[in-house]
Formats: sequence, C-alpha cells, structure tokens
Amino acid sequence: MKADSNLEKVLKEGHFAVTAEIGPPRGADISVIKNKAEFLRGRADAVNVTDCQTAVVRMSSIATAAILVQMGMEPVMQMTCRDRNRIAMQSDIFGASALGIRNMLAISGDHQSFGSQKTAKKVFDLDSIQLVGLVKGLRDEKKMLGDEDAIQGDIPMFIGAAVNPLAPPLEFRALHLKKKIDAGADFIQTQGIYDMEKFRDWMKTVRDMGLDKKCSILAGLVPLKSAGMAKYLIDNVPGINIPESVIKRISGVPQEKAAEEGITILCESIEQIREIKGIAGVHIMAIQWEHKIPEIVERAKLLPRPLV
Ligand SMILES: Cc1cc2nc3c(=O)[nH]c(=O)nc-3n(C[C@H](O)[C@H](O)[C@H](O)COP(=O)(O)OP(=O)(O)OC[C@H]3O[C@@H](n4cnc5c(N)ncnc54)[C@H](O)[C@@H]3O)c2cc1C
Repeated sequence: MKADSNLEKVLKEGHFAVTAEIGPPRGADISVIKNKAEFLRGRADAVNVTDCQTAVVRMSSIATAAILVQMGMEPVMQMTCRDRNRIAMQSDIFGASALGIRNMLAISGDHQSFGSQKTAKKVFDLDSIQLVGLVKGLRDEKKMLGDEDAIQGDIPMFIGAAVNPLAPPLEFRALHLKKKIDAGADFIQTQGIYDMEKFRDWMKTVRDMGLDKKCSILAGLVPLKSAGMAKYLIDNVPGINIPESVIKRISGVPQEKAAEEGITILCESIEQIREIKGIAGVHIMAIQWEHKIPEIVERAKLLPRPLV
C-alpha cells in the first residue's frame, strides 16, 4: 500500500468507489464544515475538500481536511498550483501528512479572473503534472525537489489528479492523462461528464492505451439544479458538454421540479458509467448541495459503502 488510505483500499479491493466533495466556508466557521461533512459520513469512501474553487477565498483545504480527520472521516485534500510556489507546496504537504491526511488531488486551479480576487498574482511555479511528480518524489524517494538530503519522516499520500476528457483539443486528452499517470497519479477524478457517448469513446482510447490498468479512474459528475445552471456550466467551464437531450429534460419540467430531474439524470448517468469498462468509481461534485448527497447515493444504489 502506498498510503493505506480508505480510498486506496476500496480501489485496491476492486469496489466501485464513491468520492464526493465539500466546499469549505468563506471564513473560519467550523460548523459549516461539520454540517456538510455529516451528510457525507458513511456515504462516500473519501471526501474531497476543494482549494479555493472558482478562485474564491475560502478556508484552506488543509485546515478543512484536518478537521475531517478529527471527525473520523477521510479527506482528499485538493491543492492548486495557482496559489503556491514549490516551497509552500512542499511545506504544506509535510504539514498535511503530519495532520493525518492520506489523499491529495493535484490540480492547476481555476484562473484567478473567475473569482473575487481578479488582480491576484497567479503563481504556477509548477504545473499540475510536476506537482504530482513532486508528491511521488516525497513519498517514494523521500526527496524534495532539487535537494539531495532525505526528508525527515514519511509522506504516505495517495496521489490524485484531474482530467477533463471532453475539453478541446480532444485528441490530446488521453495523452494528457498518460502524462499525469507517468508522473505518478494513483487515481484520477474527471471533470463533470454529461455526454456519455463521447465519454465512452474517450474511455475506449484510454483502454486501448492501457491507462485504466495503471491508475484508478473515477468519473466526475455534477448534478444539475436547473436549466440556468446547465447554461452557466456550458458558457463558463471549458470541456463541459451537456447534450441537447439533457438540456431539454431539465428545461421541460416546472422550475420547482428541476432539481429532482437533475438528480434523476445523475442517477441514470451513474448506472451508465458503472457499465463502462475501466471506470473504478464516481466522484460527485454537488456544488453547494452537499445535503443532497444522501439522496443521490441512495437513489443511485451506491450504498452501503464497503468497510475495508
Ligand atoms: C475534479 C476537479 C476538481 C477541481 N477542484 C478545484 C479546486 O479545488 N480549486 C480550483 O481552483 N479549481 C479546481 N478545479 C478546476 C481545475 O483546476 C481547472 O478546471 C483547471 O483548468 C484544470 O485543472 P487540471 O489540474 O486538470 O489542469 P491541467 O491538467 O494542469 O491543465 C490545465 C490546462 O492547461 C493545459 N496545460 C497544462 N499544463 C500545460 C503545459 N505544461 N503546457 C501547455 N499546456 C498545459 C492543459 O492542456 C489544460 O488545457 C477542479 C477541476 C476538477 C476536474
């Protein structure tokens, strides 16, 4: 075992994994985390903690993940390349590891122009692939970047990365995944998938390249709350393809029924994803909708979660 995390064990034992994310509060209110986390207890194998998603300042993912550890839950700490140079990254990874965090997701991060700090300086000292390699070096070789001295103590971290399978240019997406796997990614969580046909095609390429055997791929899903949300995602998130049939379904029900229809669509998607060879699980990103996770996992027949 690389990190002995629950997520690693669930995947290693061949169970269909479930991860779900929570967004930290825009301040220091711990009760927000505790309330959100309880919706996920026993319903996800690990809980992703976003890192200032959409470039909006929130409580740090490290602090939030450490609170989850204290609550007896398992976090996946997300870390962006947008806000830290390699000194801060390595220092934070040491701290996270010391606090009992055993999974992390290395990501670029949404551009600062998305959020509320538009004039913030972006860092990008390392890109997401280099960050994956950095964590692997700390864990497997006990070496910091460009430093020959061995680090003190172990960094048992199960390493994740994100991919956006349906973002143009499509022909490079599987190659992009390969680079992350070659750098050391143990698991992948994808951007939200709505177009199952295109996703199936992408997975065929992934299987043809043998990548599903080298890394666990969790398909990302973002439940739609309304037709307006679908439009927002299409307009603002590169690579989010929402087929016309899905937009018609969510627009075709009265507004007060749209959220329910969104969950029905999501559950149907999970059923289809379970049939795709090479998929190891799902990652549910219920944005500001953590309280809907119990209903989603129950309706999608993802319970009970395995005890490993
Ligand atoms: C599961 C998931 C969780 C996320 N969580 C967060 C979060 O917590 N906080 C947040 O701010 N954002 C988050 N995001 C948003 C994400 O970081 C952005 O969508 C980002 O644009 C893509 O991240 P990535 O790590 O996949 O990017 P990368 O794989 O690093 O790629 C980003 C883009 O840059 C290009 N690129 C990357 N490296 C190079 C290079 N060396 N040369 C040329 N082109 C390059 C890629 O082709 C791609 O188009 C999340 C996204 C996903 C899918």
